[in-house]
Amino acid sequence: MPNSMQAGLHLRSRPSLLQSAFVSVIQASRSLATHSEPYDTVVIGGGLSGIPFSGVAGYVAAIKAAQLGLKTVCIEKRGTLGGTCLNVGCIPSKAMLNNSHIYHATQHDMKHRGIEVSNVSLNLEEMLKYKDKAVAGLTRGVEALFKANKVDYIKGTASFVTPTKVAVDLNEGGETELEGKNIIIATGSEVTPFPGIEIDEKQIISSTGALSLQGVPKKMIVIGGGVIGVEMGSVWSRLGSEVTVVEFVGAIGGAGMDGEVAKAFQKILTKQGMKFKLNTKVIGAEKVDGGVQVKVEAAKGGKEETLDCDVLLVSIGRRPYTKGLNLENIGVEVDGKGRVVVDDQFNTSVKNVKCIGDVTFGPMLAHKAEEEGVAAAEIIATGHGHVNYDAIPSVVYTHPEVAWVGQTEEDLKNTGIQYKVGNFPFSANSRAKTNSDTAGFVKFMVEKETDRILGVQIIGPGAGEMIATATLAMEYGASSEDVARTCHAHPTLSEAFKEAAMAASGRPIHNF
Ligand code: FAD
Ligand code: NAD
Repeated sequence: MPNSMQAGLHLRSRPSLLQSAFVSVIQASRSLATHSEPYDTVVIGGGLSGIPFSGVAGYVAAIKAAQLGLKTVCIEKRGTLGGTCLNVGCIPSKAMLNNSHIYHATQHDMKHRGIEVSNVSLNLEEMLKYKDKAVAGLTRGVEALFKANKVDYIKGTASFVTPTKVAVDLNEGGETELEGKNIIIATGSEVTPFPGIEIDEKQIISSTGALSLQGVPKKMIVIGGGVIGVEMGSVWSRLGSEVTVVEFVGAIGGAGMDGEVAKAFQKILTKQGMKFKLNTKVIGAEKVDGGVQVKVEAAKGGKEETLDCDVLLVSIGRRPYTKGLNLENIGVEVDGKGRVVVDDQFNTSVKNVKCIGDVTFGPMLAHKAEEEGVAAAEIIATGHGHVNYDAIPSVVYTHPEVAWVGQTEEDLKNTGIQYKVGNFPFSANSRAKTNSDTAGFVKFMVEKETDRILGVQIIGPGAGEMIATATLAMEYGASSEDVARTCHAHPTLSEAFKEAAMAASGRPIHNF
């Protein structure tokens, strides 16, 4: 695997979502491929790769393969398409993030704007229903896309019999076997368990439980200050919970966030009411008297402390999911972290078996999984397909959002590349001022000699949308001068992006 696979992104337009029609699930009795009539492509896992908005590797790969004329089937055990992203990940979490932000802003950010509101109250049941409705609509949309693209869909659990044959334990009962000239493993990831702390999804929860709590806990402790920790912590903090995040390392935000940005991010979230215990490890937790007691100590060791909460969220990462696939039967190589080993064409160690998404290398992101789904299908159909891992954006959907693409300043220091930095604060951006939403900044990092953009980090309003421009610029090998000389509409938040590029290329106007 090339080093660049550890980073990166890519861009493409998504098809519009068909909202109506359900695809009829193939019955075991109906025209399933046999030895004499194999599928061109069998996709195991109907996750994000195919969802127009969120994307999971399997479903996108299946649609693309069918569009390229391959006879394709997708096997998914969940009962709905869209994988983690659509069902219990990106989509429901963003519904909760947006609505909890509106609730919080209505309570705390209206008066000074000249808007009087009173009697604002939370109807959690409705907020959860809203989230479920968003998920259900999109799930049906993916099924409609399967139907429109003539992808066969089987609800069941797949396991390898041979490298070209898959047995499926059907959700509705019974079994079937499928033959495929190519098989794509897209089985995703699962929550990394914390040894000794059992998740019941009520008091001790994973991200899945955090999307469906039936009441606002008075106190919540979050183990792990990565993406899920800060996103789901923010949701419940805005809804009224007293949230404390316990993080093993000295910074929040997880891998890929620039140190300077992570520091600013923590400051902003602290101001919003979240508490952080960094460089701290959890030793154990137990349910006591209706609550949960969490034992922590300094990461390097030291005095033990006991923290109390009503709900404990475990968010210390996700791990590849290959349970029940029988990979060992057919000789597919898996590395020490449980990831299926692939080359740069997504080939596993077994001929004609490919692997994409969370279950293999690279960042565990929906859009990365989707890109791999398209590329893998293209490789099967045409011999060519490509993902640029150096240009894969990341977004943390808090308020303000944090977004980045390319390398951090720490990465650049470690590699010894000579670089320049250009910063621009949203407090000096006219639109942010008029919106009264000025926390954060844009940071450009460029190669000193060539001015080529090496990384962009943004913390601030609209960061998640703005990062698309940075990604596009990197995809085209742009310099900061290219961005600095591109006209941006006034007054927009994206002018801060242009100004940071101007600062990096040595021609700032509005910077002090
Ligand atoms: P998955 O989406 O996990 O799909 C794999 C599918 O395979 C599953 O549906 C599973 O049921 C099925 N499967 C497994 N084994 C079998 C089998 N043997 N037979 C049949 N089917 C099988 N990423 C982002 O980019 N943006 C976000 O905002 C974001 N938010 C997230 C929020 C949360 C709370 C979580 C948990 C994740 C979030 N992610 C986000 C990550 C994103 O969900 C994953 O990167 C993405 O879903 C990976 O897609 P995948 O297709 O590889 O795997
Ligand atoms: P993460 O890797 O982002 O963060 C886990 C954090 O837990 C790290 O900061 C780590 O240092 C900390 N940690 C690990 N062990 C610990 C311990 N014993 N005590 C205290 N802290 C500990 O993982 P996550 O937040 O669980 O998210 C899982 C995956 O889901 C990520 O890879 C992420 O890419 C994806 N995701 C993405 C988004 C998004 O793109 N907006 C949102 C949610 C999830």
